[in-house]
Amino acid sequence: MTDRMSRRRLLSRAAVAGAAATGVVGARATGAGAAVENARARTRSSATAASEMVDVVSDVEVDVIVIGAGLAGLTAATAVQKAGPSVVVLEAQDRVGGRTYDVEVAEGVVVELGGEWTGPGQTRVQALAKELGMKLFPAYAEGKNLYYRQGELKSYSGDIPPAAMDALIEVEQIISTLNEMAKSVPVKTPWEAAQAGVWDSQTVASWIADGRFTDEATFLGQVAIRGVYGEEASQISLMDLLAEVAGVGGDFNTAIGSAQSTRFAGGPQEMSKRLAKRLDRPVVLSAPVLSIERGKVATVQTARRSYRGRQVIVTVPKAVTAVLRFHPALPPAYGQYLQRQPSGSAVKIQAVYETPFWRDDALSGAVVSDTGPIEVVYDNSPPDGRRGVLVGFAEGNQGRALFRLSDAARRTAVLASLARYFGPRAQTTMHYADMVWAREPYTGGAYGSFNPPGVLTSLGAAVAGPVGNIHFAGADYSPEWPGYMEGAIRSGEAAAAKVIASL
Ligand SMILES: Cc1cc2nc3c(=O)[nH]c(=O)nc-3n(C[C@H](O)[C@H](O)[C@H](O)COP(=O)(O)OP(=O)(O)OC[C@H]3O[C@@H](n4cnc5c(N)ncnc54)[C@H](O)[C@@H]3O)c2cc1C
Repeated sequence: MTDRMSRRRLLSRAAVAGAAATGVVGARATGAGAAVENARARTRSSATAASEMVDVVSDVEVDVIVIGAGLAGLTAATAVQKAGPSVVVLEAQDRVGGRTYDVEVAEGVVVELGGEWTGPGQTRVQALAKELGMKLFPAYAEGKNLYYRQGELKSYSGDIPPAAMDALIEVEQIISTLNEMAKSVPVKTPWEAAQAGVWDSQTVASWIADGRFTDEATFLGQVAIRGVYGEEASQISLMDLLAEVAGVGGDFNTAIGSAQSTRFAGGPQEMSKRLAKRLDRPVVLSAPVLSIERGKVATVQTARRSYRGRQVIVTVPKAVTAVLRFHPALPPAYGQYLQRQPSGSAVKIQAVYETPFWRDDALSGAVVSDTGPIEVVYDNSPPDGRRGVLVGFAEGNQGRALFRLSDAARRTAVLASLARYFGPRAQTTMHYADMVWAREPYTGGAYGSFNPPGVLTSLGAAVAGPVGNIHFAGADYSPEWPGYMEGAIRSGEAAAAKVIASL
């Protein structure tokens, strides 16, 4: 299997070419749709229970309390347990995995509604999967890709999209300039870059606009940014993007290129399920943390019970942490910082078919389009190809446009997009599932959080460490591979190391 032609890959290949030239919808609640709907209903009822504050029973005492059973929290808890101290993980939802959430829609057909792919350089997540006995497999990438722009659908072979040559050259310029700028960005302290003040005072979109690139190069650049953040370039600080480039090793191509080349057999949520099983003390599910009383020994309060611990690791997404109650309050820089950490607006969809019918036309299933709601699609079929699955994304403004639709209207709009690319057969699904992550009370959006202009330089240094014995971890805190499963694992391990050292 060759390299997958991901949307991220598409841009990087465009650049190479330039250089050479110079909820839930559900086929009314079948399969995944029903499973997701049930999960949402359960989440909503946990949230209700949390607000009622009933039946508080006696304290549980441990060395370390971990809040959140996503990859960061479970990695941290695993490392703490291995070192010896006692640890408990408190999770708001009735499942582990957080932003990884997989549903088996038919025997052997697992669809990933959250995190999905990995690729070169993501060493920790791949090592963890192997250690847990999971298999990786290459994402399907054979055949011609589709490029839909200004009402015209073009197919093309190979890695170079059929964009105008001047646009391809400009894309190369955009990427090489970003890489050059990122060289001066310290990975752990990006606000210390000599040009940080200038870069943090503009958005990625305004920086691209200043370059006066062609519309097509601007389009390709914005597609890539939405792929990284699930959000429009107009909302993201250029400094945040440069920190991201530095965090993946200094080449934007690493983040937009092969990061989507490899999948996890059974889906990546399985990593969290297996990590949770290995913990001596079972993860406490359906236990949303309501407040944290800070002190030499911290008290963490859920609706039913309080937990006392010498150290606390908070792995909750930043926008959700902003509404947790801390007593005494966090230092003002933390409160202000958390108020300024919005999440992206991506909606992820999975359409399941009897067969991968697009392969009959020698299509890879990959699409990049300038027309929504679904502007990016890939073949997401199981490895044996026994069923066909298309995964698609509506990001930024396109994602937000779906928020206001009913489940049925959202499904109709999504399938109309797929039919535009693959013909009327795309309208007839066996199963359909989607996830509007902005609706999830314990996540708040997708793919993660980002810094708008001004935040990193004004608050980054002030929130760089723990607050006493309260540590913050999670994919969006990680200097390396921020926003990826890889970042979640690295940040969980780093927080655990600090906690273990301080006990
Ligand atoms: C649609 C989508 C696609 C993605 N695609 C990819 C991809 O292909 N590759 C990749 O590497 N990454 C991808 N990501 C990102 C990746 O999934 C995340 O970065 C990673 O899973 C985050 O892990 P985490 O542990 O930091 O946070 P989370 O997984 O968000 O875990 C935080 C946990 O805290 C819990 N929580 C929240 N509030 C409370 C509370 N009050 N009390 C107790 N618990 C609480 C939550 O329920 C959750 O379980 C994607 C994400 C999404 C949403």
